[in-house]
Amino acid sequence: MSKLGNATAKAELGRATWKLLHTMTLRYPEKPTDDERDALKSYFTLFSRLYPCGECAAEFQQLLKKYPVQTSSRRAAALWLCSVHNEVNARLKKPEFDCANLDATYDCGCGDDPISSSSSSAASP
Ligand code: FAD
Repeated sequence: MSKLGNATAKAELGRATWKLLHTMTLRYPEKPTDDERDALKSYFTLFSRLYPCGECAAEFQQLLKKYPVQTSSRRAAALWLCSVHNEVNARLKKPEFDCANLDATYDCGCGDDPISSSSSSAASP
């Protein structure tokens, strides 16, 4: 693939990935259990090891060390990711995103059902 083709593919992967990550944190429980908190932390730790763009993954691992994943609530997780994405934006000389616009920007069309069937069945009698 040409250099431009590589850059375009990397950017497309980045856009799709950010969309998934932001949508996920905005659907994370408002009051997570310890298990859900562990799951989110593990998710980002493994993600930072396995993200297919090696340069991006290495930079993201450094960001995770400097700004550890915030798992205490949906708001904390969503704002943490927004601010980490803004760190990447700054490095790539892209404009800063206003994190007050998160809810208006990301809607998965998934309704209000809980994300985790295991936690919802655990809550059932
Ligand atoms: P993107 O940054 O992809 O953003 C997509 C959309 O998300 C924007 O149009 C905007 O609507 C919204 N958005 C922007 N900022 C925020 C925010 N802070 N919070 C919420 N929403 C926001 N590319 C490299 O060249 N080098 C790297 O080291 C690199 N590291 C990356 C690390 C990760 C973890 C990821 C997921 C991607 C990385 N990328 C990297 C790709 C890069 O971040 C962009 O995705 C890509 O350059 C396309 O940029 P874009 O201008 O379309 O907007």
